[in-house]
Amino acid sequence: MTIVVRFPPSPTGFMHIGNARTALFNWLYAKHHGGKFLLRIEDTDRERSTPEAVEVILQGLQWLGMDWDNKNYPGRNYYSQFAERERHAAVAQQLLTEGKAYYCYCSPEELEAMRAEQKAKGQPMRYDGRWRDRSASEAPAGVNPVIRLKAPLTGETVVRDLVLGEVTVQNTQMDDMVLLRADGTPTYMLAVVVDDHDMGITHVMRGDDHFTNTFRQVQIYKAMGWDVPQFAHFPMILGPDGGKLSKRHGAASVTDFRDQGYLPEALINYLLRLCWAHGDDEIISVEQAIAWFDMDGVGKSAARFDYTKLSSLNAHYIKQRPDRELTQLVQPFLETRLSRALTAAETARLTQAMPDLKPRAQTLLEIADMAKFYFDAQPLDEKAQKLLTPEAKQVLTDLAVRLDTLDDFTTEAVEAACRGYAEEKGLKLGNVAQPLRAAISGSTVSPPIFGAVALIGKDEAQRRLRSAA
Ligand code: GLU
Repeated sequence: MTIVVRFPPSPTGFMHIGNARTALFNWLYAKHHGGKFLLRIEDTDRERSTPEAVEVILQGLQWLGMDWDNKNYPGRNYYSQFAERERHAAVAQQLLTEGKAYYCYCSPEELEAMRAEQKAKGQPMRYDGRWRDRSASEAPAGVNPVIRLKAPLTGETVVRDLVLGEVTVQNTQMDDMVLLRADGTPTYMLAVVVDDHDMGITHVMRGDDHFTNTFRQVQIYKAMGWDVPQFAHFPMILGPDGGKLSKRHGAASVTDFRDQGYLPEALINYLLRLCWAHGDDEIISVEQAIAWFDMDGVGKSAARFDYTKLSSLNAHYIKQRPDRELTQLVQPFLETRLSRALTAAETARLTQAMPDLKPRAQTLLEIADMAKFYFDAQPLDEKAQKLLTPEAKQVLTDLAVRLDTLDDFTTEAVEAACRGYAEEKGLKLGNVAQPLRAAISGSTVSPPIFGAVALIGKDEAQRRLRSAA
C-alpha cells in the first residue's frame, strides 16, 4: 500500500509554527515510506481565503523545502476544498437518500433555547435529535433545513491513534452533527472526510486539537461505507510560558522566523526535536530525519517553544553553510540595515568577511548587524567612546600614519604594523587593538579587527582612525 498523507491548512494570512510542524511530520512520513504528500487548501471561508493568504502557505512550504506531490489542477497547484463543494453536498444528499441523514428545521432560536435548558439542568449541550424521525410533511414553511447525520445511538466509536493509542467514545456522547448548512455549504466535518476519502489519504496526521473531531469523522466514514484511514495526533506546541504560542512570543508564524534570520534547516531540526526523538540526537539533518522518522518517536505531551535552543541550532547551521550562500542570504538584511544596495565589490567583501562573521552569530540578522561596519562607518557607541582616552586617540593618530607605510594591505601586514607599534611604545597589544576596534567598528566587540581593517581598505581605515582621533 502506498502511503498518502495530506497537509490541509486553512488560509488565515499566516502559517503558524504548529502548522509547519504538522506539515513536516506528514512530509517526513511520506518521504520515509516512499509515499505521497498532498497539499489541500481548506479555502471554504471565502472572506479569509484570499490569494495572498494562500500564497503565504505555499511560500512557507517552499521556504522549508517541503514539496508536495499534487500540483495539477485547473489554474492552481493544490487541491482546493472550496472547488469540491458540490461533491460535499452530493455526499450529504446521498446519506439523506440512504436514510443515514435527515433534514433538521430547527431555527437558531430553538437551538439556543434547547442549549439553555440543557445548561440549566447541568446536562451536556447536545442536539437532542428532535427532527431525526419527523417526516418532511411537518417541515415549517420558508425554513431552509440543515442536513444532520443520523449517528448511531448505541455502541461505541473506537479510534486507534498511532500516537495516542486506542480511545473509545460511547456513541451516546455524540449528537447528530450538521453535515450541510442551511445555505448548502458543507461543514468542516463533512468536507474533511469527503476530501480525505477522495484524495485517497491513508494516514490523517494532525495536531491533537483535532482529536475529538476524529470520532465524528469516523462516523461519517462508516455511514458512507468508506475505509477509515489511520490517525495520528501530535501534541500542541506551546509558547515558552506554557500558553498558546502566539505573536506575543516574538514569532509564531513561519515567515516571522524567516524574517528574523533563521535558516529553514534549523527550524526544521528544531521542530523535529520538539515533538519527536531519536535517542539523544539533537542535530539531525533532513536526510537523517527522512531515514529515521516514524510514529514511535513522537511524544505525547505538549512541548514548549524554546527560542534559546532554536538559536543555538541556527548558529550551528549557519556555520555549516558555505560563505557564498550566507552572503546571498545576509545581503538583503544588510542592505535594509544600510539603507542602500551593495556594489559587486562589496558583495565580494561580505563573502571574504564571512569566515569571521559566521562563528559569532546566531541569526542572519546578527550577521548583518555585525557586518555593517565593513561597509559604512558606524557611530561610536558609548563604550567605544569611553575607551577613546587622550592616550588612545594618540594611538589612533599614530596608527593612521603607520598604515600609510603598508604597501600590502593584508591582515598579516596590519597585524604586524600594530604589533610593531605596540612594542616600540611599550604598550600591550590590547591597548592598541582596542582603540583600533572602537574607531573602525564603532564598538568594543567585533569580529577579528586586523582582518576587518584589511577588508575595509587603507583609505577608509585611515579616515575612520583620524575621525575618531
Ligand atoms: N484546516 C484544518 C486546520 O488547519 C485541518 C484539520 C485537519 O487536518 O483535519 O486545522
